[in-house]
Amino acid sequence: MKLLADLSYDELKEKMLSIGEKPFRAEQIYLGVMQGKEIEEISTLSASLKQNLVEEGYAATGMKIFRSFRSKIDDTVKFLYSLWDGDMVEGVFMRYKYGNTLCVSTQVGCRMNCAFCASGLNGLKRNLSAGEILGQVILANAFDGGDLKNRKVTNIVLMGSGEPLDNYENVVKFLRLVNEEKGLNVSYRNISLSTCGLLEKFDLFIEEDLPVTMTFSLHAARDEVRSKIMPVNKKYAVSDVIAAAKRYFEKTKRRVVFEYSLIKGVNDGEKDAAALIEKVKGFPCIVNLIVLNYVKERGLEGTSRKDAYRFQGLLEKGGVEATVRRTMGADIEGACGQLRAKYQD
Ligand code: SAH
Repeated sequence: MKLLADLSYDELKEKMLSIGEKPFRAEQIYLGVMQGKEIEEISTLSASLKQNLVEEGYAATGMKIFRSFRSKIDDTVKFLYSLWDGDMVEGVFMRYKYGNTLCVSTQVGCRMNCAFCASGLNGLKRNLSAGEILGQVILANAFDGGDLKNRKVTNIVLMGSGEPLDNYENVVKFLRLVNEEKGLNVSYRNISLSTCGLLEKFDLFIEEDLPVTMTFSLHAARDEVRSKIMPVNKKYAVSDVIAAAKRYFEKTKRRVVFEYSLIKGVNDGEKDAAALIEKVKGFPCIVNLIVLNYVKERGLEGTSRKDAYRFQGLLEKGGVEATVRRTMGADIEGACGQLRAKYQD
C-alpha cells in the first residue's frame, strides 16, 4: 500500500504535477491527510482525483484507532492502532502541565530483545514507514479534537515499541514531516528520541542537525550488568554510550537524558549508583529513574518506589541530577508492547 502521509508537501506537489493535476490539489490533499481524513473524506477533492488515487493504490495514513483506553485517574489515553496490513502498534497520550505528549512506536516489534521489555518478545515484525509514525500523531490529534491551528499533541516522545535508530531513514523522514510548517509543525525541541545506543547510526543522526532531545536507555552503568539485560551492550558498551551522549551535548549544547529502569536486585544497588556517579558526574545530564513495569513473560520485578527514591538520593548526593518518573494511566496499564501482544490474534 502507498501512503499519502509518507509524502512531504513538496513531494505531494510534484506528484500532482506528474499526473496532470493543479498544484492546489496538493494543498487540499495535504491538509486533509493532516486532519486525519481518509481519501474519500476529503470533500474538496474531485471524485475523479479521489478515484485515481485509490486506483493507484494510495491510502491517507492507511491506519485507524482500533481501540482506545482512557484512564479515569489522569485522563491518559492508550491507543491501539491497526495498520493497513492488519499489524498493530501502540501509542500513549499523556497530559502534562507544559502540554500533551504522545508516545509513538517506530517498529512493529523490536529486535533489540532487552530482558525486561515486552516489545521484543517476538522479535521484529517490520519497520513502520515515516507516514505510519506520523499517522499515530495525526490520529491522536484528531481524536482529542485538535486540528492544525489548535494542535492537541504538542510534544512527542519516540519511546513506544521499536528502536528508532534501527529504522533510521523512516524515523529521520518522520521527524522532518512532523515538523513541516504547513502540517503539524511540532518543533524539534519538543521531540525526544530514545535509543538503546545504536551508535553507528547515532553518529549519522548527529550530522542530520535535527535538534531533538536525546534520551539514552542506559539502565546500568556497569558493563557486566548492562550486558545481561541489554544484548546491544555487547556491541556498544556503557562508556561508548556515554561518550556519544557527550558528543551530542558538545554539538547541540542540549542536555541529554539517561533512562534508568530500576529492576529489583539487578541494577538498583549502591554499587550501581556509585558506578553511574563515577561515569556521568560533571556532565550536564538528567537521569530519569523509572520503576520497571512488570512484564509477565519477562518475569523481572521493579524496585519499590521507596527504594527508587533511595537510589535517587544516592545519585543526588553524588552530584548527579535524577528524577523518579511518576506513573501515569495506572488503571489502563500494560507496558508498551503488551496491548499489541494481547490483541494481535
Ligand atoms: N528502543 C528505544 C525506545 C523504546 S523503549 C530505547 O531503547 O530507548 C522506551 C524506554 O522504555 C526505554 O528506555 C526502554 O528501555 C524502557 N522500557 C522498556 N520496557 C520497560 C519496562 N517493562 N519497564 C520500564 N521501562 C521499560
